[in-house]
Amino acid sequence: MTAASSVENNEDYSLCSACGGECCRTRPGIEAPERFLTAASPAEELARLLATGLWVLDRHYGIPYSPEKGEKGDPDRIILYPRPATRQEREAGDVQVLPGAGECVLLGEDGCTLPFEERPRACQALAPAEGFACTSSWTRFDAAKEWLSHQKMVGKALSILASPPAPKV
Ligand code: SF4
Ligand code: SF4
Repeated sequence: MTAASSVENNEDYSLCSACGGECCRTRPGIEAPERFLTAASPAEELARLLATGLWVLDRHYGIPYSPEKGEKGDPDRIILYPRPATRQEREAGDVQVLPGAGECVLLGEDGCTLPFEERPRACQALAPAEGFACTSSWTRFDAAKEWLSHQKMVGKALSILASPPAPKV
């Protein structure tokens, strides 16, 4: 499946190989809802991805808000959003994240094993720069804001994963 994002390809192999893959070796990037919203059943598509064991549901604590717009946060709210698993998370075999940094399961010897257009939104949004001065046009806060209105999809995907498979006839 191809992600729906139309972010322009900003790959820079020489910069990223000189860096050694700091981002991919510490925190896999979050995916945006669009990837799932284009599927016939977004929740089933999310469940299918999570069932591969290569993806997990990360947690964002609290709702990002802009006080200048009169918005209010909610520190007790937890927003779940998907990202590729770390190697430790894949070994643990759960959709829940493990604390701490870890290498993305999709990182290969020559960089990301996914073509640019199939990478998570946060990975596409990270613009490489020298000296670890990389910048991102789509942050964890943006991810939390976008996923806030799709938490029902996430809940449904978790229900699908928890359901026993239908007996074969
Ligand atoms: S995007 Fe930045 S942190 Fe990630 S591998 Fe490239 S240079 Fe390193
Ligand atoms: S999906 Fe690819 S670009 Fe994103 S963190 Fe994993 S290896 Fe890196």
